Amino acid sequence: MSEAKFLPFALPDIGEEEIAEVVDALRSGWVTTGPKTRQFEADFAEFIGDGVEAIAVNSATAGLHLALEALGIGPGDEVVVPTYTFTATAEVVRYLGADPVFVDVDPLTLNMTAEGLRAVITPKTRAVMPVHFAGLACEMDAIIAVAREHGLKVVEDAAHALPTLYQGKLVGALDSDATVFSFYANKTMTTGEGGMVVSKDKDLIARCKVMRLHGISRDAFDRYRSTTPAWFYEVVAPGFKYNMPDIAAAIGLHQLRKIRRFHAQREEMATRFDAELSDLPLILPSRPAHASSSHAWHLYPVRLKPEAGISRDDFIARMAEKGVGCSVHFIPLHLHPVWRDGYGLTPADFPAAQAAFEAEVTLPLYTRMSADDQARVIAAVREVLGA
Ligand SMILES: *Cc1c(COP(=O)(O)O)cnc(C)c1O
Repeated sequence: MSEAKFLPFALPDIGEEEIAEVVDALRSGWVTTGPKTRQFEADFAEFIGDGVEAIAVNSATAGLHLALEALGIGPGDEVVVPTYTFTATAEVVRYLGADPVFVDVDPLTLNMTAEGLRAVITPKTRAVMPVHFAGLACEMDAIIAVAREHGLKVVEDAAHALPTLYQGKLVGALDSDATVFSFYANKTMTTGEGGMVVSKDKDLIARCKVMRLHGISRDAFDRYRSTTPAWFYEVVAPGFKYNMPDIAAAIGLHQLRKIRRFHAQREEMATRFDAELSDLPLILPSRPAHASSSHAWHLYPVRLKPEAGISRDDFIARMAEKGVGCSVHFIPLHLHPVWRDGYGLTPADFPAAQAAFEAEVTLPLYTRMSADDQARVIAAVREVLGA
């Protein structure tokens, strides 16, 4: 085992189909947003179902920004976000000159809650951005009910939640205003960099389409296909450069076709971790509370109990010595200087997130890990914990 290769914390799972499709895009001459992106959007909307439309962008961060912009969020507005997330969730609120308002999370699921949301609503609150941590959906019925009661928009940060069922429906098809997925390299499927905005709101989709490409009323592929002169376009707003290139969509087309298989593998690995780590002084990740809900298993986050007798940092260092890469999700936003100092946040304001951060370790879980790789991870955890 000492000579075994270092097992990284995450790796993308790219096959020959993706490679061939990228080569096809390169040879076709259409490398930016074009037919493959159109197909990827159509396939993605069909996968989510329920009549949603899908807009491909070059990151989830871009998608979150576009969704909030389309909903009219601007200076003076407040947008509620959990502290237990990646900084992108809050930074897009600042892009628009609005202010993020940070809430603590449930101590077991590490998701934000309806009660947490209700407690911070002011006359300035305009929207809430639930984050489905690790791939477990927030209690969306309750969050949406509070949001509707107070006239708030709901934009789901579903960067971890493909595919996640919430009470029988895929995240993306719930009654929020928009849902945004990430195809970053370590997510449950990848396009290298990329994201998708999904919504049933035709006006929101139309605005996102215009704003993802400079505020231009027609994109290059529309112009290419249209009967009016190809050179003609109008700029209707100062937009952004957020379109997904066909080179990336080529990867996404095949990753999406594999997502059910990827998910089955992740589910099986999570079940094995649960079974083989359950006797240890660890808090294992929460599972869905409803039978008709499921977990995407983007991450497998465990927390060290005090009786483990080892700090989170020492645990990660010992795992690395045994050739296993671990990570931490998340360093909560209230600890980062930009949010801490900008909004006067302290750990005492977020006791659940603070306690989770101090004890959290994310174990490697990805489809290119073999059963033997996972056995190595389990053996390393057991040795480090002296079991
Ligand atoms: C990865 C991630 C994002 C950002 O995704 P990009 O596609 O890299 O922009 C946003 N929110 C959360 C919770 C994430 O984990």
